[in-house]
Amino acid sequence: AAKHGGRGQFRFYSSDLKDEKEERRLLEEALREAIASVDSGPDSWDEPQLAMVYQPVVRTDDHTVVGFEALMRWEHPTRGNIPPSVFIPVAEDTGMILQLGAWALRQAARDATAWPHPLRIAVNVSAVQFAHPDFPGIVADMLDATGLDPERLELELTESVFMGDGEVTDAAFKALKSLGVRLALDDFGTGYSSLSYLRAAPFDKLKVDRSFVDSCTLSDQNSAKIIAAIIGLADALGMETTVEGVEAFDQRDVVCAKGARFIQGFLYSPPLEQTVVLERMAGGQLRIPPEGPQRHRPE
Ligand code: C2E
Ligand code: MG
Ligand code: MG
Ligand code: MG
Repeated sequence: AAKHGGRGQFRFYSSDLKDEKEERRLLEEALREAIASVDSGPDSWDEPQLAMVYQPVVRTDDHTVVGFEALMRWEHPTRGNIPPSVFIPVAEDTGMILQLGAWALRQAARDATAWPHPLRIAVNVSAVQFAHPDFPGIVADMLDATGLDPERLELELTESVFMGDGEVTDAAFKALKSLGVRLALDDFGTGYSSLSYLRAAPFDKLKVDRSFVDSCTLSDQNSAKIIAAIIGLADALGMETTVEGVEAFDQRDVVCAKGARFIQGFLYSPPLEQTVVLERMAGGQLRIPPEGPQRHRPE
């Protein structure tokens, strides 16, 4: 059976049975099957192993849900839940991310068009996907096929997109902006966070990385000051900010005091299945009071 150690320590088998290479090969094979389980069309016999779940983004002043971030989940039939931190890098290394990412976009867009309220939907895009010259075309086709209003779609990119070919990157930014979709810079403050990226690229939003919130306590005033500075920088450049990973009331109070208007985190809600999103929207529940303090993932 699957074993879960700490973060990133997932193993199919204990290490004395299979060496790392073999484990990696099994993971690749399993991922290929998982993609086939959702990608082989309505005639597929396979039980779908992949699903998208949706985490609310909440406006802090009135607890109103303004949108959702789509996150991928892989439930292996015998090995259980395999986290994105394990399978996304494998998908990137093998090129499977192109298929996986296209599926994620399509599924999230389909689900969002079924919502009774036209809220925003954010989808994570790997730098490998983004670097592919067809990417803007894939987004355009998906918008056509699903009828999703481009203004509702926000693509979450990380700084690693700037490691790729500059011309391809610039062309992709232009093409995506002309489609009318929104762009967000995810995990801001980790990596190199070169400010020249912000000058060059047309981001609508910065997502402040969870690590700043994690260490945002009374004893660590610097993290809170950095959050305030990032929010101030984004404001000055006309960008929105979302602070990620808010788990507890005291964290929320600190980040709100630093100017945060939008928050995502377990304090408000974990990612939800589409059926739950639909139920809540049908019930008119577009406000979520915070549920914390919660220090542990409710998985
Ligand atoms: P991310 O885009 O920065 O997503 C936020 C992660 O933080 C998610 O983890 C989410 O479940 C988790 N999270 C949300 N609130 C809290 C909180 O209050 N506390 C803590 N500790 N965690 C919180 P998840 O779903 O495991 O995804 C991890 C990463 O995997 C994502 O980071 C993203 O980089 C990648 N990922 C997930 N789904 C996709 C996808 O469909 N496509 C691509 N390319 N990457 C994905
Ligand atoms: Mg994200
Ligand atoms: Mg993030
Ligand atoms: Mg992240």
